[in-house]
Amino acid sequence: MSTVPTAPTRRPRPTIGILAGWQAYEGTTPNWFLEALLLGVMEAGRTLDCDLLLSCGVGPGIADPRAVRPAWPEVLPDGDFVPVGSWNTDGLVVISPLRTIARRGYVRRLQDEGHPVVYIGEGDGRPAVVADSFVGIRQALLHLREHGHREVVYVGGDPLDDGDSRTRLEAFHAVAGELGLDHGESCTEPGFHSEPGGYAAMKALLERGCRFTAVLASNDNSALGAMRALVESGRRVPDDVAVVGFDDQPWAAGHIPPLTTIRYPLGDAGKRAVELLLEMIQEGSLRSDEVRVPTRLVGRRSCGCLPREGARRAGSIPAPDGAVAAPGAEGPRSGTVRAMTDALGVGGSSLAAPDTERLCAGLFAGFETSLAAGKATAFEHSLLELVRELEESGDPAHLWQTALSVLRAGLLDTRGAAGLAGWAEDLLHLGRVVLSESAERQGGRQRLLDSEYEDKVSELSVRLLSVHEETELPAVLGEHAPALGIHPTLLALYEPAGDDPVASCRILLSGPGGAPEEPTAPEPRETTRALTFDRLFPESGPRCQLVLPLIHKGRSPGFVAFATDTLDPCAAVARQLAVALESVRLQAAVRALTLRDDLTGLYNRRFFESELKRETERSRRFRHDVALVMLDLDHFKAYNDSFGHRAGDDALRRVAERIVSSTHRKLDAIVRYGGEEFAILLAETDLDGARQVAERFREAIEGCTDFLRPLTVSAGVAALHGEGCDGERLVLDADRALYQAKKEGRNRVCLAPPSS
Ligand code: GH3
Ligand code: MG
Ligand code: MG
Repeated sequence: MSTVPTAPTRRPRPTIGILAGWQAYEGTTPNWFLEALLLGVMEAGRTLDCDLLLSCGVGPGIADPRAVRPAWPEVLPDGDFVPVGSWNTDGLVVISPLRTIARRGYVRRLQDEGHPVVYIGEGDGRPAVVADSFVGIRQALLHLREHGHREVVYVGGDPLDDGDSRTRLEAFHAVAGELGLDHGESCTEPGFHSEPGGYAAMKALLERGCRFTAVLASNDNSALGAMRALVESGRRVPDDVAVVGFDDQPWAAGHIPPLTTIRYPLGDAGKRAVELLLEMIQEGSLRSDEVRVPTRLVGRRSCGCLPREGARRAGSIPAPDGAVAAPGAEGPRSGTVRAMTDALGVGGSSLAAPDTERLCAGLFAGFETSLAAGKATAFEHSLLELVRELEESGDPAHLWQTALSVLRAGLLDTRGAAGLAGWAEDLLHLGRVVLSESAERQGGRQRLLDSEYEDKVSELSVRLLSVHEETELPAVLGEHAPALGIHPTLLALYEPAGDDPVASCRILLSGPGGAPEEPTAPEPRETTRALTFDRLFPESGPRCQLVLPLIHKGRSPGFVAFATDTLDPCAAVARQLAVALESVRLQAAVRALTLRDDLTGLYNRRFFESELKRETERSRRFRHDVALVMLDLDHFKAYNDSFGHRAGDDALRRVAERIVSSTHRKLDAIVRYGGEEFAILLAETDLDGARQVAERFREAIEGCTDFLRPLTVSAGVAALHGEGCDGERLVLDADRALYQAKKEGRNRVCLAPPSS
C-alpha cells in the first residue's frame, strides 16, 4: 500500500475533518441524526473561522436500510474511501459508534501519533462530547410518575452497542430505581433503534405478559415501532399506554399523537465538538476530556399531556443548566415572554433562541399596547413583523399558535377569566387568523419550492446523462449545480497503482462561483492522499466541503467534493454523477470498439483517417513535423498459399504485436491499414526519425521466429512539415516510397524525397 503522508503543514485557518461510523445519506436522503450534527458543525465552522472537510458516506437507502457504509480514509471492504484524514486536516471530529475494530483502530492510531481527535458519542474513546442522557431520562420518568405511572417498560437500543444504547439503558435502571419504579430485567427489551426493532420488542414484552402503563424508548424510531405494536394489540396511546421517545427527530412533533420525547440537541453537540477540537489544536491540551450536552424532555401528547399542558409543561421543566428561571423569579411580563420562547423552542422552531425571544417580546408588547389602547394597530404591527420574519426564514408560522396559547394562559393567570373576555379574546383571534393565513402562504410557497427543486434536480440529471465526454461534466455541474446551492465542485477519478486502488486521481473541476468554465487542460493529477483542498477552493472565507464517494453498482470510481452549506441535494448529485460517468465510459468503450481492427486489435482505417486529419492540422498550426511509415508484408500471398489463411491470420497478429512492442512512444498511432499493410503515424517526427522507427520495425519482423517461415516487410516513409502538411499527400508519398522499396528488392526501408 502507498504510504500516507503524515505531519500536516500548519495552515493559517485550521482545517477540521469529520468522520462518522455510518453513512450521512440513506440513498439520497440525509440521515437526520448526522445531518443535525453536521449542521451544528457547519455553524461552528462559520463562527469559529475554520475550514471543514466533511466525509459523507452514501448508503444504499431503501435497498437495505440497515447497511452501514461510512465514507472512510482507508480502503476497507465495509466503507467507501474518501480523502479526509490526518494528512489534510489539523484535527478530526469522529462521530460514534465506529462499530468495527478496523475503524476504531485507525482513529486510535491517529491519536497515538498525536493527531487531535474529538469523538461525538460514547463508546469509542475520549475526549468526547456526549449526551447527558441521565438528565433527560430523569425528567421523563419523573414526568411519567406525575401522570400516575408506576410500571414503565424500556425499549432499548442495540445490546452490543457500548455507546448511547448502553448509557441510556443504565440511566433508565438507575433513575427507575431511584424513583421506586418497576425496572427489572424482564421489563426491558432491545429495540435496536429502529422501527421494526421497536415493534418486535413491544411484541415480546406483551407476549411475556409484562404489566405496564408506560413505555420509554431508547430512540424515537423504536418508540414508533412500539406504538405500532401497541395499537395492533388494541391499546390506545396515550389513553391506555403512555409513550416517550428519545432524540426528538424532526417527525416527532408531527406524529399522531405528537411524540413526547427527550431532546438531544445534536446541533449543540456538533458545535461543542468543534470548540473542543480547536482548543486541542490551538493549545495542545484540554481542560476536560468530556463535555456533556444536556438532554431535556419535550412534553407532547403521547405521554398523556393535553395539548395546552404539553406546551406549558415543556416550558416549565427546568433545564439542567438553569437556563429557565424558577417560577416567580421574574415579573409576569418577562415570565410570559420566557414561557412563550421556551414553548416555541421545544415545538420544532429552527430560529435561534435570542431571535425567538425578541419576536415573542414584540408580540407580547404589541398585544399589551393594543389591549390597553382598545385599538388593534400595535398588535397587528407586531404580528405583521413576526410573519414577515417567519416567511423570510421559512420557520413554520403554525408553531406560533403555541405562543398565543401561552400568552392566553399567562393572561388567565394574571387577570383571571374576567380579564380574558371580549377585547382580549378578539385580539387573540386576530392573531390566530394572521398566523393561519401565513401558514397557508408558507405551504403554497413550499409546494412551489419543492416542485422547482425537483425540476432542478431532474434538469441536472438529464444534462449529466447527455454528456459524451468526462471533460464535459464540470461545465454541466458549473451551470446547474449552483441552482441547488452547490458551488463549486471537484470531481476526482481514481487511478490505481500496484495494490492501491486509489493511489492517484484525475481531477475535473467546475468553476468557482459555478460559472461554466472550459475544462482545465491538461487534467491535473494528484496523489490522492496528498490532496489538499486549498488549491482547489481558493476562496478566502471559512470553507465547508462535503466529500462524498461516487458509487455505482457497488464500486467507487472516485469521489466528489461540494462546496455547500446544505446537505440535501449532494447525494442525489453524486449518484447522478456516478451514473453519468459510467455512461460516458461505456460510450467511450463502444467508440473504441468501432475504431479497432478485430483481427489484430490495432486501430483501423477509420481511426487513421481522423487521426491523420488531426495531426496534419496540428502540424500546420504548430509548425511541427509529422511522419508516416507504411509497411507491407513481403510475399505474403505465398505464405497464405503455403500454410492456409488461418496461419496467415496468426502471422498478421504476430506482426502487429512486434510492431507494438518495438514502438517506444504511446503517442504513435499504429494502424492496420488494409490486408497485410500497416501504417504508423508519427507526430512531431521528421523524416530521419521516421526512417529509424521503420528500420526498427523491419528488423523486428526479420528477427522474429514466431512465423512458420521467415517473414519480412518493406517500408515506405514520408514526412511533411508546417504549411505544406496535407494528409493525402503524406499517404501518397509514403505509398510511393513503399512501392520503391518493393521494387528495390523488398525487406528494406525507402524514403520519399523530403517535401519542398
Ligand atoms: P508483395 O507485397 O511482397 O508484393 O507480395 P504479397 O504477396 O504480399 O502481395 P500483396 O501485398 O499484393 O498481397 C496481399 C496478400 O495478403 C493477399 C492475401 O493473401 C493476404 N492477405 C491480405 N489480408 C489478409 C488477411 O486478413 N488474412 C490473411 N491470412 N491474409 C491476408
Ligand atoms: Mg499488400
Ligand atoms: Mg505484400
